[in-house]
Amino acid sequence: MVADSTPNPTRSGDVTNLKHGQVEVVAGHCDASDMSLRQTNIARLRNGLFDVLVVGAGINGAVSAAALAGRGASVALIDRGDFASFTSQESSNLVWGGFKYLENYEVPLVYGLSKSRNRLMKAYPDNIKEISFLATLDDSAPYKPWLAALGASAYWTIGMFGTKAPKLYDVDHVKNAEPVINVSTARGGIQYQDAYLIDNDSRFVFSFVRSALVAGAAAANYVELVSAERQDGLWVAQLRNVDTGEEFTTSARTIVNAAGPFVDGLNAGWNNQTDHRIVYSKGIHLIVPRLTTTKHDRVLAFFDDTDRLFYVIPMGRRSVIGTTDTRVDEPFTQVDDEDRNFLLDQINARLDLDTPLTADDIIADRSGVRPLVVRADGGDGRDIEWTAMSRKHEIERNDELAIVTVFGGKLTDCLNVGEEVAADIEKLGVALERDKENWFGEPAKATRDEFYRQAKLMKLDDLRSKPDTEPLSVRLWRRYGLRAFDLLEEIRSDPAMGEDIMGSADYLRAELYVAADSEMIVKLDDFMRRRSKIDQVVPDADIRNSPGLFEVATILFGDDAQRRIDEYYATKDGA
Ligand SMILES: Cc1cc2nc3c(=O)[nH]c(=O)nc-3n(C[C@H](O)[C@H](O)[C@H](O)COP(=O)(O)OP(=O)(O)OC[C@H]3O[C@@H](n4cnc5c(N)ncnc54)[C@H](O)[C@@H]3O)c2cc1C
Repeated sequence: MVADSTPNPTRSGDVTNLKHGQVEVVAGHCDASDMSLRQTNIARLRNGLFDVLVVGAGINGAVSAAALAGRGASVALIDRGDFASFTSQESSNLVWGGFKYLENYEVPLVYGLSKSRNRLMKAYPDNIKEISFLATLDDSAPYKPWLAALGASAYWTIGMFGTKAPKLYDVDHVKNAEPVINVSTARGGIQYQDAYLIDNDSRFVFSFVRSALVAGAAAANYVELVSAERQDGLWVAQLRNVDTGEEFTTSARTIVNAAGPFVDGLNAGWNNQTDHRIVYSKGIHLIVPRLTTTKHDRVLAFFDDTDRLFYVIPMGRRSVIGTTDTRVDEPFTQVDDEDRNFLLDQINARLDLDTPLTADDIIADRSGVRPLVVRADGGDGRDIEWTAMSRKHEIERNDELAIVTVFGGKLTDCLNVGEEVAADIEKLGVALERDKENWFGEPAKATRDEFYRQAKLMKLDDLRSKPDTEPLSVRLWRRYGLRAFDLLEEIRSDPAMGEDIMGSADYLRAELYVAADSEMIVKLDDFMRRRSKIDQVVPDADIRNSPGLFEVATILFGDDAQRRIDEYYATKDGA
């Protein structure tokens, strides 16, 4: 077991919030000589010897590390950025079987994804929720409502009836369900079911990193694999602490290449010839004030002018519009005017808004590349229409070099990837314990019931300061699981711990201390964008003017607070 050993920086009463940008640490300041959780893990990586070195901590690397460590392998997990800071922070947050992939007759893919979706919904009842998709079909849609309903029934069947049944709606029903939909040219609609991540993709990925840590893995963000050489049957890897520039080595019997869009580059460096390779499909999202009713969460689905499905997905008091699918040659992307205007035009044409959405309504955006897998010899993919390219994953094992590579995949596919990687690592000679499937999922129901009992006794939900937000007990349990009991204790012993720390962001002071202790936050962006989604849902001006921001940074970084705030804005402002 790896204990969370970050020093407790300061507790309420120790920090007096004076005015914006000024926090006086009164007592109990952070002892810089204590090892943080990250430092402890880097110390374990330095000159370490592991069964497996996992390179890349997006969903595929994190899940591989959790599955392997959970079955007794000694695992090192590294990412040159923050955990989940590349593709895995840019998704639509959907856990789905991929209804639209049936357009390309990808039944085995849809079956596998639906199975994984059903398992995830069962294992994460508070983090992954079933959600209705309401698809409006107008004159120009490629399918008539009755045909779409037939497809939805097939989808439901392939998904082993793991959700509520689909429905066929007439135009009035569509309008009643979501008055914001423009039904002037609609012929009807269908409702089908899938699931979504209530918090965000990167926090979900981090839950696997934590699971790996708890099972004994050494994991660190901002640690880059510079090079790796095979010496006497072992991989000797040169690593670099990106935050400090320090270089050190670690050794491993095997490597899992989970570098997402970068897998081919690593394989080329190791002369690892593979049957598959990656091509990039860019997708963007725009986050705007909530467009749909807040009475319940529902995804709206529309065909865009190119007959491709796009969505309006709820994210608390916001809506996420997306996504797009553009072939690009580079993995580094950003939202450009063309993408933005395309999505705004598409959504404005399909909604009845008092005033059309403009760029000024956009609170945040997301842009990433799907790493899509094709055959290296060009045996597929070349003749297929771009948007019809498969979203499947492939895992390749090189016995001679002791490398397992994960190509492609989806967040939804994560449990399958974890299991398949573990099976391949076992074939490379690393003995694994029987899979008890305890490396994923939320705590047991009895533990959950006990949390809610304690929260009720202390009237936790009465502390909620904002209307239109979920009960605090629900939020804390979902975000922290077992660690939520510590939060109750903190709030019981000091009511200031139950206060919102940053204006319009839904974060209690106590949560920041948990984050500082156990969430390996190196930069402010790690907290604002990935452990939380504050950066995505709170307008930039509100963040900049928030009197709580300096206290947040002080709890996370102690004396380094101002430097980390400056670094955060320098990156945001593109300096
Ligand atoms: C627009 C969009 C929408 C999507 N929507 C969904 C969805 O709703 N549902 C769903 O299931 N899937 C969705 N996906 C797919 C899913 O997000 C991706 O398939 C998945 O995140 C890929 O994860 P990964 O771990 O392979 O790659 P990544 O998340 O990119 O992780 C690879 C990591 O490797 C690290 N790395 C690379 N080189 C090195 C090195 N030398 N040393 C150390 N680290 C290194 C990188 O820093 C990176 O963090 C979407 C994808 C996109 C782009």
